[in-house]
Amino acid sequence: MNTIISNSELESLHFDNSFTRDLPGDTQPDNFRRQVQHACYSRVRPETVSSPQLVAYSKEVAHQLGLSEASCNTQHFTDVFVGNTLLPAMDPYAMCYGGHQFGSWAGQLGDGRAINLGEVINKDNQRLVLQLKGAGPTPYSRNADGLAVLRSSVREFLCSEAMFHLGIPTTRALSLITTGESVLRDMFYDGHPKNEPGAVVCRVSPSFLRFGNFEILSSRQDLSLLKDLTDYTIRTDFPHLGAPSKATYLKWFQEICDTTVAMILHWMRVGFVHGVMNTDNMSILGLTIDYGPYGWLEGYEADWTPNTTDAQGRRYSYSNQPHIGQWNLLQLANAIYPLIAEKEALEEILRSYSAQFQLGWNNMMSAKIGLLDCNPATDDALIGELIDILQLVETDMTIFFRRLGGLFAQDKETDISAAHHPLRAAYYRPEQLDRSYIEKMNNWLTSYQKRLAQDNLPHELRRQKMDRINPKYVLRNYLAQLAIDKAETGDNSLVTELLQLLRNPYDEQPKMEKYAEKRPEWARHKAGCSMLSCSS
Ligand code: AMP
Ligand code: MG
Repeated sequence: MNTIISNSELESLHFDNSFTRDLPGDTQPDNFRRQVQHACYSRVRPETVSSPQLVAYSKEVAHQLGLSEASCNTQHFTDVFVGNTLLPAMDPYAMCYGGHQFGSWAGQLGDGRAINLGEVINKDNQRLVLQLKGAGPTPYSRNADGLAVLRSSVREFLCSEAMFHLGIPTTRALSLITTGESVLRDMFYDGHPKNEPGAVVCRVSPSFLRFGNFEILSSRQDLSLLKDLTDYTIRTDFPHLGAPSKATYLKWFQEICDTTVAMILHWMRVGFVHGVMNTDNMSILGLTIDYGPYGWLEGYEADWTPNTTDAQGRRYSYSNQPHIGQWNLLQLANAIYPLIAEKEALEEILRSYSAQFQLGWNNMMSAKIGLLDCNPATDDALIGELIDILQLVETDMTIFFRRLGGLFAQDKETDISAAHHPLRAAYYRPEQLDRSYIEKMNNWLTSYQKRLAQDNLPHELRRQKMDRINPKYVLRNYLAQLAIDKAETGDNSLVTELLQLLRNPYDEQPKMEKYAEKRPEWARHKAGCSMLSCSS
């Protein structure tokens, strides 16, 4: 049983549980796996665990909630955010949603291992839903255990905070806590299951609603509940759109398209590959959600995917993400169509996605190479050529763009072969730099230098602008794995160090240079560093 105690800073959190108050829940109170009809959620309690230990917390998220660092370091905090202790005002529940997985409708999925504790209203009047991931089974757990392992929890915790500090819309992570229980996982689904330490992450977001929450109701023809959920969402998360009506639903869909485009552009900017862009992993607020087998581009490779489950089809590869975003929005449009019944209007919004993405892409790529603005007539070709060249030899994306900002420091014509020199740190295989490659790169650098001259921006200013868009530090796949390897031995120091490093991803941090280097060779084919699965 979970204990309910009081008298601490945590008890002064102000809860307003609108989701469970305003929407219908499952009438069956018992926690067993089932199809849940005519309901948006099922009430369920987190499982009690034997010996929870705090691994790390985000002081920024704690602050946002109004919690001091002192209270994060109490046993009470650990007990609450592992799910052993419920605060009196919490009303825990798991949400019902469906989804298209790898292109096919998968029916009911739901929060199989996520339990929402309630909605906190903070001092700035923001609504923040607290959600435990890995706190035990729910009616939506299907044939799985509702638990999460330390490995995947470290990845979720660090990456969501890293994304936030990169300026990318994302759900947040308040805490990472080990449970003291072991969890059996077959990491590569190859018949070699292993016991791993269990963990719970407390995620925080204004809303955890996904495209799939709407799709499931539509697929079941539960149109009255579809309308109730949509109206609730607009009232709660999109109040600026006005009272729900057909016109408002269209504006709402347009805004979801806009935020989705913006999110994916950010991913492309920093080389983030989500790995499982199923519609149940698409946030209605355009936030990056569900950090599973994600990865960061090392060598710039358009069709790279970190997810071994997707190695064949490469549906969720880096360069396919914009297209999949649109495909997912089409599924959402189909789901909400019965509320609007205006095919043309929805199609029009969907059609505008490509143009909107292209415009954003041009602006983003121009900014990455330090142009003041994008002149498509000339700059499309400049950007396109660069992307081709980047793929000719294995080139580290993060290092390349960061170093590009340091070129041409003299504000005058520079010898091009000398200019190329600082970029060499980005190449994984120097032997690939043959004459033909060098010639292509030098030609590009020559055109680039000419183009920069048109802007007439002082070098230092250009560099500063580029350094704000091209991060120096990202959560390289092997770095996350090193932090996991240590944490699995009980040493949380690298989790803490990376969390600190990634708070300032755009700053030079001279003592941290080693974390900006390219992936070491040993990590090229190592599990967790280059190959990931959905087993988490
Ligand atoms: P994901 O691919 O992690 O987004 O998960 C897809 C679906 O599987 C969601 O409904 C999850 O809640 C569910 N799921 C994933 N892992 C587990 C688990 N260990 N226990 C229960 N449900 C899970
Ligand atoms: Mg998911």
